[in-house]
Amino acid sequence: MKIVMLGAPGAGKGTQAKMIAEEYAIPHISTGDIFRANVKGGTPLGMEAKAYMDRGELVPDELTVRILLDRVAKDDCANGYVLDGFPRTIPQAEVLDSELAKMNDRIDFAIDVEVPDENIVRRMSGRRACLNCGATYHIEHIPPKKEGICDNCGSELVLRDDDKEETVKKRLAVYHEQTQPLIDFYNKKGVLKEVDGTVDSAEVFAAIKKVLA
Ligand code: AMP
Repeated sequence: MKIVMLGAPGAGKGTQAKMIAEEYAIPHISTGDIFRANVKGGTPLGMEAKAYMDRGELVPDELTVRILLDRVAKDDCANGYVLDGFPRTIPQAEVLDSELAKMNDRIDFAIDVEVPDENIVRRMSGRRACLNCGATYHIEHIPPKKEGICDNCGSELVLRDDDKEETVKKRLAVYHEQTQPLIDFYNKKGVLKEVDGTVDSAEVFAAIKKVLA
């Protein structure tokens, strides 16, 4: 099963993607996570991506498509995957589509997690991340056991640069301009499924399971 998650940054698609990956035993592939791992590791890819990420802009398609295609070519993707944060532009979706078509394959479901912008800004300013192990929390909804400290590894939690209010607003503008057209793209292909992302994450997941059944 090949699934694409759609939705604004902060709509909760990452959380849902992880739950889907576990339920259906397929890898969760987040281009944002791949970029962040490269930033942390100081690789040339990370150095190139960081400037765009810090400004709330998209990393250029050419670079992003290359890392995504490398990732989905790995053996663990043979039975499918759930893509989180890719595609983000029509050209990215078109490349993915044509690469899959070469193997007589296609995306089975594009799940749009719908949340209005005003909820997103509120949600994201409460997000906290562990830069050491990658765990994410929310001060209201998923608080760590000890304030400001990662449950997994004990490192200090931070508000990521790309979760700061100014950056969030910029990312929402980028989303509406470049990523929202994908809803129409996948709708035309007959694979779009929309779920309400404003309810709690277990309810969102129940709705997703229904559409995947
Ligand atoms: P995310 O964690 O998915 O919100 O991604 C964080 C940042 O990584 C984004 O704001 C972009 O700068 C970059 N990024 C992640 N995925 C993509 C993509 N498919 N295309 C372009 N840039 C991306």
